[in-house]
Amino acid sequence: MTSVVEVPAAEAAEPTAADWAAAVAAVRGGQAGGTVLLVCHVNPDGDALGSMLGVALGLRRLGITQLQATFPGATAGATGGGYAGPPEVPEPFRWLPGLDLVVPADSAYPAPDLFLCFDAASASRLGALADRLDTAGAAVVLDHHASNTRFGGIHLVDPGAAATSVVAEGLLSRLEVPLDAEIAQCLYVALATDTGSFRFDMTTPAVHEMAARLIATGISPGEISRRIFDTRPFGAVRLYGDVLQRAQLEPDAAGGVGLVWTYATLDDLARHGQKAYVLEALIDSVRCAAEADVSCVIKQVGPAEWAVSMRSKGAVDVSRVAVALGGGGHRLAAGFTGRGTVDDVIGAIRAEL
Ligand code: 5GP
Ligand code: MN
Repeated sequence: MTSVVEVPAAEAAEPTAADWAAAVAAVRGGQAGGTVLLVCHVNPDGDALGSMLGVALGLRRLGITQLQATFPGATAGATGGGYAGPPEVPEPFRWLPGLDLVVPADSAYPAPDLFLCFDAASASRLGALADRLDTAGAAVVLDHHASNTRFGGIHLVDPGAAATSVVAEGLLSRLEVPLDAEIAQCLYVALATDTGSFRFDMTTPAVHEMAARLIATGISPGEISRRIFDTRPFGAVRLYGDVLQRAQLEPDAAGGVGLVWTYATLDDLARHGQKAYVLEALIDSVRCAAEADVSCVIKQVGPAEWAVSMRSKGAVDVSRVAVALGGGGHRLAAGFTGRGTVDDVIGAIRAEL
């Protein structure tokens, strides 16, 4: 859920005035009565959901009525209720305003007049919904990954932004949508998630100024933090015990800066009656090991398929490793999908390091 964000490279290109103007014009076109579809990346985290829903609420305030939000694999139960299997809106985010706009992925407008996507560094992160990049009248990409592949037509990609929600707020303000408490809750969740609760290097004065604007709408940072960071089923506490118990330290790995890693299987989840989302914060418990610069959590998602989270304290660019293994991310926080056994996956990582 949390992701470290790197200090912006000096050459990082932010959206130009022309990019912003094109995005505003595209939304104004959508206001004229067309269909608007918002999509965020697969296995959405706080920034993906928060920036998508914050903008969705803003577009609703502008009077856009044919408005849908979704993400790859979203089902009818995505916003709550009896749905049991993945993918779904993770429990910590089930209270977010705007979830009533989320529709199952397979009932999203097939050819929307306007398509906006959030926090996706590449089209593949949109799963089957990536086809809207071709079918939509206009496609606006809101993102902050340095590894963004510049897919889609209109790029609001700012590698210097701490979160996609920074870009989202920029768009809302140019659309002259005033911040209200509901929009602010969404954008605050996104900002707090991607800055690790305002701990990471990207926590600039501008980030705190944005947080101040959001909090000024009357939202409760303490309550939000409790819900998204500090609430977990007891079974998850026990599960963390099992998984942290088997963590391994390899001081000589990564050219001597050290690697700490662990893994969690579907059986671990089943044994403790837990869903996959509870493992999102596991990397934060692993990466604190002082002896290793690089940390890694390998989470089983299928018989021979693993979602891999990597973090660096600064000596290693883990996005380079992730990209080499088919994924992406930031210099200090990245991930990819691994295949085979745990040994295969950690072997591939060791080799890249
Ligand atoms: P996390 O470890 O929190 O899931 O992800 C950390 C960062 O790595 C996020 O910024 C995310 O964009 C990126 N990331 C994680 N998994 C993948 C993946 O499978 N593919 C790509 N392209 N990026 C990923
Ligand atoms: Mn993000």
